[in-house]
Amino acid sequence: MRRVLLLMLSLLMVLPLAAAVDPFSLPVGTLIIDAGHGGHDPGASYNWPFAGGVVWERDLNLDIAKRLSVLVKLAHPQLRVIMTREDDTFISLAERSAIAASQSLDSKGALFVSIHINSAQAPSAQGFEILIKRQDKQVTLLDELTPLDNISLFASHSQAQLNRLLNNRNLVIASIFEETMSSQLLTTRSRGIKEQDLWVLNQCRMPAVLVEVGFLSNEAEARRLVDSTYRQRVAQVLAAAIERCL
Ligand SMILES: [Zn+2]
Repeated sequence: MRRVLLLMLSLLMVLPLAAAVDPFSLPVGTLIIDAGHGGHDPGASYNWPFAGGVVWERDLNLDIAKRLSVLVKLAHPQLRVIMTREDDTFISLAERSAIAASQSLDSKGALFVSIHINSAQAPSAQGFEILIKRQDKQVTLLDELTPLDNISLFASHSQAQLNRLLNNRNLVIASIFEETMSSQLLTTRSRGIKEQDLWVLNQCRMPAVLVEVGFLSNEAEARRLVDSTYRQRVAQVLAAAIERCL
């Protein structure tokens, strides 16, 4: 009898946990790499004589994204890697978010990493920063766009609970990126983790970080960024951060 009681008690303790699986938990099984801008949307641009003319953010983002994709696929053949663009085409922010929203989170969660390069009026501005969505921006998770596999995952929580879980995970992942980049990308400095009201982050139905890897408007950083060896290094460091989420 005592055994039965103990079993019932332990079931009661386990059941609520089992019923409320965190759909955004680590490790992730799907990685979405988003090369910022593209096509008629060049992003930041700067005319640097040492680079032989105008340097476009869209091209550098795509190059780093492709290098990152190769690195993570080589190291983790079982990981699903999806790129929002693989060439210099324009992809709207809504399309990028729709790609993220359509991912099934049934077995393992997913992570969205958007790659950008900053620019500022002050030429001295430099460093990398990690952007996440503003915590007060509520993501709609359960609607007609929700993949079938995700309905049961999302339905076991309220919308507010899901957003809390998503905000918590965004902070954890942003910290992983910030720590990894701070310790491994010694040529630049951290400007920290910032919450920003950005469409692509607000619409992502999964943990999402936007990494501004450096400033195209800063001469020292631009000199590094136009060098493919440095972009490979950036991709390696981003891969090391992603590794910690797998
Ligand atoms: Zn950008």
